[in-house]
Amino acid sequence: MIELTVSIPARDPKNYGITIGAEILPSIWPRIEADFPGCSKFVVTDENVFAAGHLKRLLGGRQVPTFVIAPAGETSKNMDTVVSIIEAMEKAYLGRDTVVIGIGGGTVGDVAGFAASMFKRGVPVVHIPTTTVAQADSAIGGKTGVDSTMSKNAFGTFWHPAAVYIDVATLETLDDRQYRAGLVESVKHAVIADSEYFAFIEKNIQAILLRDRAILQKIADFNCRIKGKVVETDPNEQNMRRILNYGHTIGHAVESAGGYKLLHGEAVAIGMIAAGLIEIEMGLGDPRKLEKISAVLKKLRLPVKLPKDLADNNLVDLIKRDKKALNRWPRFVLISQIGQVYCRDGQWAVEVGLPIVEKVLRIL
Ligand code: NAD
Repeated sequence: MIELTVSIPARDPKNYGITIGAEILPSIWPRIEADFPGCSKFVVTDENVFAAGHLKRLLGGRQVPTFVIAPAGETSKNMDTVVSIIEAMEKAYLGRDTVVIGIGGGTVGDVAGFAASMFKRGVPVVHIPTTTVAQADSAIGGKTGVDSTMSKNAFGTFWHPAAVYIDVATLETLDDRQYRAGLVESVKHAVIADSEYFAFIEKNIQAILLRDRAILQKIADFNCRIKGKVVETDPNEQNMRRILNYGHTIGHAVESAGGYKLLHGEAVAIGMIAAGLIEIEMGLGDPRKLEKISAVLKKLRLPVKLPKDLADNNLVDLIKRDKKALNRWPRFVLISQIGQVYCRDGQWAVEVGLPIVEKVLRIL
């Protein structure tokens, strides 16, 4: 028997820049050209972002092969769309010297990133997020994915972007419910990592709801610094990155139990209240922190109680199916105070007994 070893050198550390501004779409293309001289470009967007005129402002009359996802939204986040994108790239005679530019919400970003990671064994992707979810969360962090017929993000890769451009002015065309629900990820960042950021949100809630551009740039700055730091520490979600899951364990179960009628952020808002109630049951920190979080979520007109038609038995079953569960029960991310995740024995997600979760679901 002959045994050999092939040593793969570690890849170069990969840094990427995030640019935040208002009305910056027209200035982005020359920067992409400068970063990728001589490379072909391929744009992925969706029908609503296209109709809102954002692609036109980005391209400024340039002719670039583009794939417009239709219908927009989660129903198109699947392998059929990825195959169509990759085949459109082939039809345009694109090779490995191509950069994919995704302009849109989390759906566009996840699909564009996934297709980029697959095309000819991987080409760079640039994200231009246009929703509150994508600007706070999905564009930063390098997770891509599409759904199977059975579950969300069943296919996925870690594929970090080459650059991210956040134009907060694009949020002005987003519908009110999507806009407010997506802000939950910003509240979550403040709750897990930065009490000053939380105070900033409390103080500026009306300006946030009015989509004040200066305030939104500040929010984007806070979000990118917080998420960027977590991702730098734990790029492949070995441990610390799990803090980003705050409110998501019960939130995902609520989202699924409601047949996805609640938007993700709305379900996570309920999940964050659930986490706060668990903290009270476990005697973690000052119980008044939950009142403060609940007040912010209410001002954003987000749900803080379970909709009446959700049976909690079903919720426990769904919690057991959480993709991060071990032995059919997930660990929970909890906070000890606003801005500080509770860490036990080096673990950022901790065990919580079924009776506590059942009690909290009854209270909710
Ligand atoms: P989305 O991309 O489906 O956008 C929501 C709706 O808003 C769509 O109809 C879209 O066409 C429209 N839209 C987007 N930008 C607009 C604009 N500026 N003006 C008008 N309409 C606009 O949804 P989302 O909430 O942005 O993202 C949700 C997706 O993101 C989910 O699939 C989720 O799994 C994924 N996600 C991924 C990560 C990650 O780390 N990769 C993190 C969070 C969420």
